[in-house]
This record gives sequence, structure tokens and C-alpha cells, in this order.
Amino acid sequence: MIAAIFGMVWASGASAADAPAPPSVPNQLLVQADGLYERWTVERSWGTGLMVDVLTEVSTRMALEYPSAEPLVIGDISRRGGGQIDGHMTHRTGEDADIGIYFRGGRQSHGGFVNVDPDELDCDATFGLIRALLDTGTVEYILLDQVLIDRLRSYALADLGLDPELVASMFPAEGTATWRMWGYVRHADNHRNHLHIHVGDPQVRKGS
Ligand SMILES: [Zn+2]
Repeated sequence: MIAAIFGMVWASGASAADAPAPPSVPNQLLVQADGLYERWTVERSWGTGLMVDVLTEVSTRMALEYPSAEPLVIGDISRRGGGQIDGHMTHRTGEDADIGIYFRGGRQSHGGFVNVDPDELDCDATFGLIRALLDTGTVEYILLDQVLIDRLRSYALADLGLDPELVASMFPAEGTATWRMWGYVRHADNHRNHLHIHVGDPQVRKGS
């Protein structure tokens, strides 16, 4: 998307010297929705239309399927128009968002994400959240710390009795060529207190 927009700017004949400021990413505000989710800040709650749809759909499903769990806490998405954002390498285009994980009986962390120990993780609700995200078909990947991934993987196998192949595709083993995959959870450092999701259109990537 960004490459395409820049392409249009250069094609219009502008030189580097008189080029206008980088065009902003067209994004939209995730509006307040009591009972579905709580946003950290309005300033960092701007996402692509797809991101807004995903967060609305998933938080609605969680409210219906896990009524005793707290509404999701949505951390940083992106700024209006995108661009660099303090404390993040990504979150520039509205295609990335941070979401709280559930612990101790459906609780969410308010006023900042806090690390969750594997034995404090609410596996039922957090696995339900991951399933809801992946079911949208537009979440390319979810980042989470490996200790929590391990806990969820064993929960899916032992407690839910899910097919090992399905579980392996959701939580691919380290070293798997994930760039060939779509819709999975993988490890990232500093993700023991929230999920980082990245959304996109699988058809676009397939065609690239
Ligand atoms: Zn993030």
C-alpha cells in the first residue's frame, strides 16, 4: 500500500527536493464500544478498515461466547494517518494492534499490560480469543511469548482434545517456514502480557 502511494507521488513528476510530506495512511478510528472493548488511548486507536472490522467482530464474539470475561483491552494500534509511534517497530500502518490476554478467570489488564505466568493464564478465554481472531481469515499472524504458547498448545491438545495437526498449524514449531503460512501464533520477545496481531488480505499476498 505504501509503495503504491509513493509510486503515485513519483509518477506525478515531483522530485525528491520538492516532494510533499509522505502521504498518510488512510485509516479510521476504532470508536468507543462499551461492553465490547476498552481502548488505551484515542490517539493510538486508528487502524485500517480491515483492522477495525476484525476488532469489532472478535470483541463481539468474545462478549457473546464468554459473557463472564471482561471486555477486551485494546492497546496501541496506530496514529491517525499512520507513521512512527513511540515504543514500536511496527504499528505504522494500522495493520497491527496489541490486545490484552485473559488471566485468572477472564480478567484483562487495565492501565497497562502486565506479564502473565502460564499457570495464571485463562486458557479457555485466551484460546477462544485466538480462535476468534484466526477465524476471521484476515489475521496473518499473532505474536505471543513461547511460555504462553506452550501452555495454550498443551491446553488445546490435552483439555480440548483437538487434532494434533490442527494445533500444529495454529502454533507452528520453531524453525517452520511461517512466511508460507497464514493464520498462526508464533513467539516474540516482550509478548508475555499481550497479543500482537497483524491483519491483511491473504489474496493480496498470494498474488504478490
Ligand atoms: Zn504490538
